[in-house]
Amino acid sequence: MPNPALPKQEGQRQEPKDRIKNFEEVAQGLTSKQAAIESSRCLNCKEPRCQAACPVNVKIPKFIAALNKGDIKAAIEAIMTTSLLPAICGRVCPQEKYCQGACVLKEKFGPVSIGLLERYTADTARKQGLLKAPKPEQETGFKIACVGSGPSSLACAAQLRRLGHKVVVFEALHAFGGVLRYGIPSFRLPREVVNSEIKTIEEMGVEFRQDILIGPSTSVKDLLKEFDSVYIGSGAGLPTMAGIPGENAVGVYSANEFLTRVNLMQAYKFPESDTPVKIGKQVIVLGGGNSAMDAARCAKRLGPEKVSVVYRRSQEEMPARKEEVLNAMEEGVEFQFLTIQKEVITDEKGHVKALKCLKARLGEPDEKGRRRPVAIENSDFLIPADSIIVAIGQKPNPIIAKTTPDLKMTERGTMQLDENGNSSIKGVFGGGDITRGGATVLLAMKDGLEAAGRIDNYLKTQTPKGK
Ligand code: FAD
Repeated sequence: MPNPALPKQEGQRQEPKDRIKNFEEVAQGLTSKQAAIESSRCLNCKEPRCQAACPVNVKIPKFIAALNKGDIKAAIEAIMTTSLLPAICGRVCPQEKYCQGACVLKEKFGPVSIGLLERYTADTARKQGLLKAPKPEQETGFKIACVGSGPSSLACAAQLRRLGHKVVVFEALHAFGGVLRYGIPSFRLPREVVNSEIKTIEEMGVEFRQDILIGPSTSVKDLLKEFDSVYIGSGAGLPTMAGIPGENAVGVYSANEFLTRVNLMQAYKFPESDTPVKIGKQVIVLGGGNSAMDAARCAKRLGPEKVSVVYRRSQEEMPARKEEVLNAMEEGVEFQFLTIQKEVITDEKGHVKALKCLKARLGEPDEKGRRRPVAIENSDFLIPADSIIVAIGQKPNPIIAKTTPDLKMTERGTMQLDENGNSSIKGVFGGGDITRGGATVLLAMKDGLEAAGRIDNYLKTQTPKGK
């Protein structure tokens, strides 16, 4: 019998004093005993709100019931009917917004730790050799190109392959996974986890090609000569800068560059790795989203005296996951809320010396319902800094748009889709951050899965190019 009143289980975590000295995973996950207790809290609702709230419709009660019976194989199979990235999602999805936010136990007992159970299932199934790549249906002869290897393309590629189509993923970088690889740090998402989930998709027969930037040499139009359809999942990798005087100073990084240096190029191992990153003793991070938290926590691990996050609203309005804000606070990252950046002050050599800021108060809500920051006149003050990391947003890189003139884009620079989810070019589909301008792993996956369905329908009206 389920018992929701049992104590809600949380995994072990590295102590803050230890974890700021390493890039090892902070959250350790559940033990088998904890997973047994936590799974027995689930009521197995007939109309599961958690599942309805999951963008990729993971069969949550089914997998938790199987797990509770000790049947890891059935549990992982239930998850993998809709998601091939369970160990990733179990770690980085904002469950508080999706499944756990909808759990019926939320108010009275606290929601079931669905994310931790998903992670436990995926990790245990992998360890016990129970996680098997799904078998594709009969070969159709169609070939699809997926541009980018982030969660959106991965979900699309895996789903198309399941349906028996050949799929080739083209990635501009030398490693696959998109933000999962170059943005989210290994202390939140170990690289072995990303590697193993991509390997499952590879085992299904999806081909991965790295170091190929679609656009300048091979265009989307070129791809359409060889492939029956193209999915564009190239993300939103172009940083938005603050547009303040002095921003070109030495020592100002975009979060994208900083995180890529640290996470993809492993600058924290320099000189053992080839890429250095210089941040000095006092670091400022601008922004309040996941990128800002990741940048601040990475910076902290590089050993400066002080890391401060400067955010123009209050803590309540921060778009970052609450858990990550608390993690950053525990690790000693300082926060300057209601503070607006005004100017980067430099020394005579053009190096960052300080950030001039203004104090702010909260005004009326904006179009998203978040209260706007309003600068307080004559409240200027300086925060000393040796480096500043700008993490205030990103948008799609314009390379695809520039090299694909027929592809309609929105004013925001995102790829335009019609009400049926189709792009302006026949046979070309898209999803994830290139269409949303920055969202979550799960929404990117949902787009990829839905586009796979649309591509499959489109192919039913076509003859394979190779025939
Ligand atoms: P991406 O993950 O950006 O992948 C796009 C890929 O396409 C990249 O590998 C890129 O190199 C490649 N590419 C681009 N252009 C080309 C081209 N022309 N040719 C070939 N390849 C190309 N979401 C969460 O749910 N939880 C989190 O904790 C979280 N943390 C985040 C932390 C950071 C630092 C950032 C930046 C984002 C975070 N997000 C988080 C958001 C989430 O990661 C993104 O919404 C998601 O990765 C988008 O997936 P995507 O597949 O659309 O694009």
